[in-house]
Amino acid sequence: MEVLLYVFSALLGVCVGSFLNVVIYRLPNGMSLIRPASHCPSCGEKIRWYDNIPLLSWLILRGRCRHCGERISPRYFLVELLCGLLWVCSALKFGFSPMTLVADVALSALLAQVFVDFEHMILLDSLTLTLALCGVAAIFADPSVLWWERLIGGFGGGLLLFGLGFVISKAVKREALGFGDVKLTAAAGLLLGWKNLALGLFLAAVLGVFYLLGKKIAGRYDREEAFPFGPFLAAAFALCLFFGTDLINWYLGLFLG
Ligand SMILES: [Zn+2]
Repeated sequence: MEVLLYVFSALLGVCVGSFLNVVIYRLPNGMSLIRPASHCPSCGEKIRWYDNIPLLSWLILRGRCRHCGERISPRYFLVELLCGLLWVCSALKFGFSPMTLVADVALSALLAQVFVDFEHMILLDSLTLTLALCGVAAIFADPSVLWWERLIGGFGGGLLLFGLGFVISKAVKREALGFGDVKLTAAAGLLLGWKNLALGLFLAAVLGVFYLLGKKIAGRYDREEAFPFGPFLAAAFALCLFFGTDLINWYLGLFLG
């Protein structure tokens, strides 16, 4: 039975990933999710159903439009793949429980935010709201985190990030940590509870530092260039949904024996 759940999660996950690609491309540009039907952004040709199969179509067409041959971003393939993997991980972690579905939706929203923020330097309120609703649903679906730990995570996390953003912005004399980051953190606090959220914020900072170091080593670091923190927050929150509690217990075990 478990195998069925994993297969089903993988198939549904890549399909949702395909939908997330539409979200990532259209919502930040103020376009409708429904109309017009999917078309090539280069030649405008409508994309047929057989060219719109998650993962497979991109591979078969070798990442090019069937009509005009223009490159289709590998992002389409990557988002579908990641979404499928996240859904399988969620099924592995939560098994046959309502929390699997809550985690699936939450992880999909976080995944979309990563790419939206990297491409457009904004976080979408609709995705953050989806995450917050998952946090509320998690109160009922996953009692292993107590409801007041989630509330502390939501309000405390939001306030903490708001304060941090204010202080850092003053220190570097330009806007650091947008309000989108504050809202995303508050929503994630509801989902994760305050302990996992604290770990998530720490991990996000570590990921962000590694990213900047990598850019510096590659010689592509620019002091003046704005740097989106949302992708690192979203990635760290997703990691904590899976491994946060285990990591915290392991770390505390080092001291408590
Ligand atoms: Zn085309």
